[in-house]
This record gives sequence, C-alpha cells and structure tokens, in this order.
Amino acid sequence: MKLEYSDVKKTAAKLKFRTKAFIHGKFVNAASGKTYVSLNPATGQPIAEIASCDGADVDLAVKAARHSFEQGVWSKRSPAERKHVLLKLADLLEKNLAEIALLDCLDAGKPITDCVTIDAPDTVHCFRWHAEAIDKEYEKVAPTSPGNVAMIVREPLGVIGAILPWNFPIQMGAWKLGPILATGNSVVVKPARQTSLSALRLAELAAEAGIPEGVLNVIPGNGSVIGAALCKHLDVDAAAFTGSTEVGRQLLHYSAESNLKRIVLELGGKNPQLVLEDAGDLDYIARQAVNCVFWNMGENCSSGSRLIVHRKLKDKLLARMLEVAKEWIVGDPLDPATKVGPMIEESHMNTVLGYIESGKSEGAKLVLGGGRTLKKTGGFFVEPTIFDEVKPSMRIAREEIFGPVLSVLTFDKEEEGIALANDTTYGLTASVYTQDLSRAHRVARALRAGTVSVNCFSEGDATTPFGGFKQSGFFGRDKSIFAHYQYTELKTVWMQLA
Ligand code: NAD
Repeated sequence: MKLEYSDVKKTAAKLKFRTKAFIHGKFVNAASGKTYVSLNPATGQPIAEIASCDGADVDLAVKAARHSFEQGVWSKRSPAERKHVLLKLADLLEKNLAEIALLDCLDAGKPITDCVTIDAPDTVHCFRWHAEAIDKEYEKVAPTSPGNVAMIVREPLGVIGAILPWNFPIQMGAWKLGPILATGNSVVVKPARQTSLSALRLAELAAEAGIPEGVLNVIPGNGSVIGAALCKHLDVDAAAFTGSTEVGRQLLHYSAESNLKRIVLELGGKNPQLVLEDAGDLDYIARQAVNCVFWNMGENCSSGSRLIVHRKLKDKLLARMLEVAKEWIVGDPLDPATKVGPMIEESHMNTVLGYIESGKSEGAKLVLGGGRTLKKTGGFFVEPTIFDEVKPSMRIAREEIFGPVLSVLTFDKEEEGIALANDTTYGLTASVYTQDLSRAHRVARALRAGTVSVNCFSEGDATTPFGGFKQSGFFGRDKSIFAHYQYTELKTVWMQLA
C-alpha cells in the first residue's frame, strides 16, 4: 500500500478517540471524574482528554477481572474456543489496521510508515500466533511407578496486571495480551500515560471479537499511582511489565510488600553491535548499524546504541554510516517519508539532549547531529547523533539514552571486543558481524544477552522468545510458546490406582 501524506493527514484529522477507562466491558469515566491531556509529541498540542484513573478504578477493574476469572467465562473455555475468539480479534485488528497505526503515530510520534508496516501487522500476527498455538500444546504425564498416575498440567494464573511502555504501544500490548489471554487469564492493562489510545481501541475490538466482560480491562492514568496500586493489589496474581529498569525494580518491592505476586519484567538495554575485523560487506553493515540505533528514534529497548568496531574497520565503516544516516529524515510522523519522529515528550527530549551534552563534555567526538531540531513545529525532535572516540567509562557508553544517539568504541583483539560488549549491567540484545562461521558461533555464545543476532540486527520473530539477561529483565520472555509458561501455574495431579 502506497501512503500519501495528504491522505494520512486527512484520515488522522477524522479519527475518533476512545478516552474513557474500559472496565467490565464498558467505557466509563474515572471514579474521580478526573481527566488528563494527552499531547502529540510532534506538535506539543493536545490530542485528547483521557480518564485519569486512580486506586478506586484499579479496585473496580481488578474486581471485574477476578469475577470473570472465577466465573470461568474465559478461563474455563476450551483452548479451541479461546483460539477462535483471539483469531477474530486478530481479524478485526487487521480490518482496522490503518486506524490502529494512526493512533500510535499521533500518540507516540512514531513514523506512520513504521506503524503501518511493522507495529500494526506485528500486532495482528502476534495475536494469531498465540491463538493458533493454544490447541496444539499437550500436557505431560510423569514417569511414575505403575501404581500411580501423575499428570503435570498448566493452569492460568488468574488476574494479571499488564503494564505497558509508550515506545511500541499496541505492539507491546499484543506481546503481553497474546499469551496472557491465550492461556486463559483475566487481565487489567495499564497503558503508558502518554499512549493510551490504541489500548482503549483494542479493548473495544476485543469485546467485539467475543472476549467476555471483565476479562480484558484497560485503565489509563499515571504509572506511579495506578501502576503501583495494581502491583500492590492483593487480588492480582501477577504483574507483567515492560519499561525501565528503575520502575521494574520498584515492582519487585511492591510484590514483596503485598502478596508475592509473580513479577515478569522486560527492561532496558545498552546493546552492543560487535563488528569483527572479518565482518564482510561494510555497506550492508553500515545500513544495519544505522537502522538499529535510529529506528523508532532510538526509543527502543533493543537499540544497538554501542557500536564496538575493530580498529582497522572503524574509519571506513563510520564514513559509510554517515552517508547512510542522511536517509534518516527527521520530520512529521504523519509524513510517510519521515524516518525519525519526535521524542515522546519534552522532559525525555531534555534527558536525551543532556546525554549529548555529557558526551561532549566527557571528550567524545561528535561526528553527526547533536542538537534539537524542527523546534518551530512545537515538537520534541532530536537530530540523529553519532559520537566517535567514546571511552567505556563515559555515560553515553554506559547508560540507556533511549534516543537516536550512537556511541562508537574500538578494539584490537576479539577477546577485548567481547569484553567491551559484555561490559554493561544490561543484557537484552547484541549483534555480531563476522564471515567466519565457527567464530560466529563462539562469539554468539560468549555474548551475555537474551537475543544475539549474527550478521544482522533482529529481535527474532513470533516464534522466538524475547527478553533480557542481567538487569534487562526478570523472569520475563515475550513472544513464542515460552511466553505462555510464565502466565500459567504448574500443577501436579497425583493419583493412586487401586
Ligand atoms: P517506564 O518504566 O517509565 O514506564 C513503563 C510503564 O510503567 C508505564 O506504563 C508507566 O506508566 C508505568 N509506571 C511508571 N511508574 C510506575 C510505578 N511506580 N509502578 C508501576 N508502574 C509504573 O518506561 P517507559 O519510559 O514507558 O519505557 C521505556 C523503557 O522501557 C526503557 O527503559 C526501555 O528499554 C524499556 N523497554 C523494554 C522493552 C523490553 O522488551 N525489554 C521493550 C520496550 C521498552
């Protein structure tokens, strides 16, 4: 489908927004009646007034979810029946793909081309994959003595709180809800305050698809208020979270202080792209390396924000990357030609600019970008930025910036490159480039990350688990059948035969 800027703008202008909380199958105002204004990060202008939920709404949503779970309207339906409903939801999302894509484009400032070609289709595919998986999975019978039969079965956990980030609003929603719903749980979703619109529309489509009342609830509002209330709630059995390591750490406290609910965390990253001296085609690598740090404005947990390149290749590769970077046009996210939209909000833009200043003051060499741009639009745009001659001790080499900022580091020996790549508290993704197959295997196993890509930048696909080592996660894997396990309890049914 070829998108035209004028058509996209016209369609965006006509969009209707769902702005109330979705509890027990209905859109309702926050119990307090309060609202907050959601801003378009590309203009700084209001998009919509959204229900600002608090603890009272959390209680209502959890009560609805618990009631639906205990009634068994979803939890006790056969896997094939749940599959049927989730496939219908996927079909409805596909039918409304342009609208879903636009909601995230407006709310998060994500380029429309990415929303239409990546986020929204991946969302559809994700629901389909998890739906299709559930009636293909068999349970187990333990190898006991002949006098016993022991079945090992998985059962839904119960009520799950799903807390979403703003960088991939609908897609992260699907990564959580696909497996949570497929395995028969009820759920209370808390989208990020900045990006609630697509989750609210998803709830409406889920009801249309046949997800029963109370099974899927969405409460928008402030994370530190309702996110915390949800995670401390005594009637919530698990919290699944994607977001910052800082807030993820907080969730473990909430669990310990309340009912020891299961906590599943997908967190941040400071991901290395390791280019060995036998890396091969530098034009191709330059494209991969630029894409993986500027895509989604660098607001991406798997952003390859540290390029660790063999000293012999560095100048050539960097020169090519600077050429490729010219294609990364910053602009209005509604324009299909735009590849880089704004930062999510002003405070985040200032944080990113603060990191750029720290890179300059700590002595890194700025070779691209380095400032705010398109200020007149009122949007929060930052130029794609590259620093060369970065030292491992610098903040831009150590901390997750979550913006379009690349740090280039060099090494001489393979062991040194691997050590630099692993010199981080994070461990979400890593890439390695080499033409030597044995070396590729060896280095991929030596890199401490949940997903290692060889000769590309990738997060895998729906069939592969995604989550982090070290402080990039806690017990959490999105996607694949492994995501189902974390939303189920393992039960042994031990039988004595006569
Ligand atoms: P964030 O931690 O600020 O917010 C994430 C969610 O938590 C939001 O819904 C927010 O409202 C809520 N929240 C905030 N304070 C809370 C509290 N005290 N208790 C409970 N919930 C609270 O993160 P963000 O800024 O939305 O997202 C960016 C972060 O997410 C980055 O660190 C990024 O790396 C990470 N991320 C990770 C993955 C992954 O799969 N590992 C994917 C996308 C983003």
